[in-house]
Amino acid sequence: MAKVVKFGGSSLADANQFRKVAQIIRSDSKRRYVVPSAPGKRFADDTKVTDMLYNCYDAVGKGKNATVEFLPIAERFNGIIGDLGLTISLDDEFEIITENFKKRAGRDYAASRGEYLNGIILANFLGFEFVDAAKCVFFTAGGEFDVDLTDACLASVLEGYSEAVIPGFYGAKPDGTIKTFTRGGSDFTGSVVAKAIGAELYENWTDVSGFLAADPRIVEDPEIIDYITYKELRELSYMGASVLHQDAIFPVRTAKIPINIRNTNLPDDPGTMIVPEAPEKTGGRVITGIAGKKHFSVISIEKDEMNSEVGFLRRLLTVLDHEGVGFEHIPTGIDTMSLVVNSDELSDHPNLVKYITDITHPNHIEVINNLALVAVVGRSMKEKRGTATRIFAALSHADINIKMIDQGSSELNIIVGIDEKDFEKAIRVIYDMFMLSE
Ligand code: ASP
Repeated sequence: MAKVVKFGGSSLADANQFRKVAQIIRSDSKRRYVVPSAPGKRFADDTKVTDMLYNCYDAVGKGKNATVEFLPIAERFNGIIGDLGLTISLDDEFEIITENFKKRAGRDYAASRGEYLNGIILANFLGFEFVDAAKCVFFTAGGEFDVDLTDACLASVLEGYSEAVIPGFYGAKPDGTIKTFTRGGSDFTGSVVAKAIGAELYENWTDVSGFLAADPRIVEDPEIIDYITYKELRELSYMGASVLHQDAIFPVRTAKIPINIRNTNLPDDPGTMIVPEAPEKTGGRVITGIAGKKHFSVISIEKDEMNSEVGFLRRLLTVLDHEGVGFEHIPTGIDTMSLVVNSDELSDHPNLVKYITDITHPNHIEVINNLALVAVVGRSMKEKRGTATRIFAALSHADINIKMIDQGSSELNIIVGIDEKDFEKAIRVIYDMFMLSE
């Protein structure tokens, strides 16, 4: 059995970080397939190599000299090679890249070179095989990720190597053009590789010791979540919590492979395990985490006897469909329906309320802005009584008015809508209620 280990940009930002990575890999012989990001920031206002590459490519497009513009990037890689005492030279690669920049090979090509070059260095340092992702991660001609082709190709290529480095973030279209995933996409590559080789574990090494139960910019020193299910993670990520690329759970999820978020700088910390089903007893907490987002609006619709009007919701949804508007929630009353949308939808579709009025003929319709949503997520809510009461009590004691409540029948989360000005306070009081008092 093997583990796939993905290292983020901060884990590979300089030679010192490379050494930590090598030590981590060598300390477990199952860590055989490695997915690196491009070198990230070494200090707060440093620039990630990926951003340097985008900037360089754009500068060349504006007529600047490719070799000169590429120099700082070459220096970063040469610095790592030199500090590690490696004997390889990437000069030929640098020349090919600058030539391709001049030929306008594409911004995706440009960005992907960070992972590509870093992969070559890491493979050399570890003594592992380098497998170019362009040869085994595929997109369709239309730019969609080609799951089946990638899965089959990765599985057969990697079968030939007991240890390999596969750069993250990019793949190729059928004509060989390089395409990248969205930013942070090396997480996704790691997941794809783990699925393809049937890994027992996908370790995602970063610069934090796991997924936090709340945003550390809001709650001081929040707890690290030890176990979280894929579903809970989806809820929390959707609501703004971020450590992992939002698509990264999908490939491993189908194969039920757990993901372990780990800290390269504190490798003894157990990190967070993202699993299909969490073990029964995991700290006894009712809630797993709290996340939230601002910038929502509610279109509140009132109509007498709405509850007995057949097809009301369908008509409303037809308008959204037609306008291409997505919605977040639709809490309903007997004669009321509230449509919660991202506020941008209203500015992008200025006639939305008028169209809804024309088709549903309400008695009253109004838009309430500046709504924030807070999601309290926890798989254990199902078994425990009084979770909602405690959330509402915490908010009420803090004098926070609840404008909307939503709990799905899966009982995985409770979402409350509050005024944006109360957002941070709401998260803090809910956190205190559940995490400090249990
Ligand atoms: N290097 C890419 C980025 O900065 C991809 C990644 O790190 O996952 O977004």
